Amino acid sequence: MAEPTRGESEVDIALIGGGPVGALLAYVLARRNFEIDVYERRTDLRTTDGGGGRSINLALSIRGLTALKLAGLEEEVLKISIPMRGRMIHSPDGQLVFQQYGKDDSEYINSISRGTLNQLLLNKAEETGKVHFHFKSKVTDLDAKRNSLRILDEAKKTESEILADIVIGCDGAASAVRTRLGKDNYITSTEAALDYGYKELTLPAGANGAYQIEKNALHIWPRGTFMLIALPNLDGSFTCTLFLPFKGQNGLDSLTTKEAVLNFFKAHFADALDLIPDLARAFFDNPTGHMSTIKCDPWNVEGRVLLLGDAAHAIVPFFGQGMNCGFEDVTVLEHCMTDHTNRGGALYVDRRTHSGNSIHKRQKEGSSGWEMVFEDFVQRRKINTDAIADLAVENFVEMRDKVGNPHFQLEKAVEKIIQTKFPELYMSRYRLVTFTNVPYAFARQAGEICDDILKTLCKDIKAADQVDLIQAEKLIKSKLSPLLSQQPELAHGAGGNTAVLKK
Ligand code: FAD
Repeated sequence: MAEPTRGESEVDIALIGGGPVGALLAYVLARRNFEIDVYERRTDLRTTDGGGGRSINLALSIRGLTALKLAGLEEEVLKISIPMRGRMIHSPDGQLVFQQYGKDDSEYINSISRGTLNQLLLNKAEETGKVHFHFKSKVTDLDAKRNSLRILDEAKKTESEILADIVIGCDGAASAVRTRLGKDNYITSTEAALDYGYKELTLPAGANGAYQIEKNALHIWPRGTFMLIALPNLDGSFTCTLFLPFKGQNGLDSLTTKEAVLNFFKAHFADALDLIPDLARAFFDNPTGHMSTIKCDPWNVEGRVLLLGDAAHAIVPFFGQGMNCGFEDVTVLEHCMTDHTNRGGALYVDRRTHSGNSIHKRQKEGSSGWEMVFEDFVQRRKINTDAIADLAVENFVEMRDKVGNPHFQLEKAVEKIIQTKFPELYMSRYRLVTFTNVPYAFARQAGEICDDILKTLCKDIKAADQVDLIQAEKLIKSKLSPLLSQQPELAHGAGGNTAVLKK
């Protein structure tokens, strides 16, 4: 393809993917006065044909809220979300047990429709007048040497080439940008697929939009090697996700007929079966989702290309952190830009000449600062996204292999007691990840200490109420407190749903 001349086919920042992370980042960059062109392969979600389909919802917690607060959007987003103050556990015999998430009512997570959140972010970005969306525009290739992108216009079925000063890949787990960078040896990446899949189902609202099960909870039907969860929607319905192995007993491969699906639900989720009409049809109509952990390194090519969100670090959903983590990327990138300019650095896009080696040359000589910002960003971020990726897999393994283990149950029951007794002192891994902004790697380190404490406390007891609270306090103060005290955010008792940025 001949190299295009300067004009329409040149852009400052090409951002690939208008999902939640891409749309938020576009907005944040626009507030810094940059011009951004977003290429999104799907139809515009805000139009009737783009807004249809199933309603998928996500748990939004403090890290996501912190990013939204930084962008000035937290309050608007909270208005379209539903607080979930704890887990509602549904046992096989239909009994319900509510487990509060945090130390008190201030610690909760929020159920939000992915589509509605995405629409809000697209609107905000567009209103700046600096973000130009190109829908039905699929990036099919990238030449990172020239920062040229090949774009397929899905409506017209034509291809064109765009030259961009900066390319940002926010194109999700199956990122075309990451794939091309890997093929051209700029980065290496690994993908570890789970042997589990998922199906989404809808539990509709009752009469007059009433919630048929508790509204302010994340519902879980834990069944050892498989589980069903449900998150509330604003219209009174719940989006349910059934996670189960692809193969084997209670695996997807055994659910091949309508009868098999209904019998499976009758045996394991009888109370949900009564509330989901047309269950078998939905089960077969809806696609089976796959889950993987994707790690790659580095995420940047000099100051020209950057990966962010799932494109850089897709994780399995068992900590409810994927989008929160992608939003935290935006927070950290914003901090890196601020730190760079506070140090007197410049940050601008220069309409460079895109021929031959001139990009390389200009970048190396240039003072636009993106290379430093991107390197700083990856340096701060990679260790933490690796940590949450591993924590999410550990949570999955815990769910799959350990929930039925009596000793594990004892440790969890003891943890609940000491968390209630020492709410300001004892911070579980879950609370640190979900209700604080401390780095994920720090949460992981603290979680290992929590495990040690629980192991010691449970060594010689048979029931949780036998736990020695004096020993517990001593252990927490000697082992956990010294670490927690290193984080200013935790100094006066951590967390709460309201994002407080102390970085
Ligand atoms: P995506 O949401 O994947 O968006 C990428 C965008 O790029 C899409 O719009 C796509 O159309 C576009 N695109 C892709 N390829 C191209 C291309 N070649 N050209 C142009 N455009 C392209 N996270 C949470 O925080 N909380 C939860 O409770 C939670 N629950 C989850 C449950 C499940 C079952 C799953 C699978 C995930 C869950 N997640 C959760 C994770 C969350 O969905 C993702 O982390 C989040 O959507 C990532 O956002 P993103 O913008 O980086 O990528």
